[in-house]
Amino acid sequence: MTPEGFPDRVIDRAHQIWDGVRQYYERLFAEENQPLVTITAEPQVRVNVNDDCPHCHGPKAIREVCQNIFRCTNCGWQPRVVGPGGIARSKLESFTYPNREHQQKFQRSFNDALWRIRGPQR
Ligand SMILES: [Zn+2]
Repeated sequence: MTPEGFPDRVIDRAHQIWDGVRQYYERLFAEENQPLVTITAEPQVRVNVNDDCPHCHGPKAIREVCQNIFRCTNCGWQPRVVGPGGIARSKLESFTYPNREHQQKFQRSFNDALWRIRGPQR
């Protein structure tokens, strides 16, 4: 019995609950304070109409074949187009979010995409 008149088991239970809450938030803060993973992309060759080709060095050989798509008229070289990284279809089921922030940002659109791929069943 405490001086305030609470039975010891109530105080013990309160300590247990408080510990649980504290551990939850400590985990949360540790997760949110993880260092950011740097994303590196290899440098892209930028060309423009009438540039010299960076591959065959043909003078003024770069033409725009479509909007923002360039090609060398000598050798056919094209700058590589790098799209955003995706998730392989085979890994959709086992995908885990790298961190909480990622999950908050992308969970909804990820689930929408899953729905479009798999349909409403499942
Ligand atoms: Zn070329």
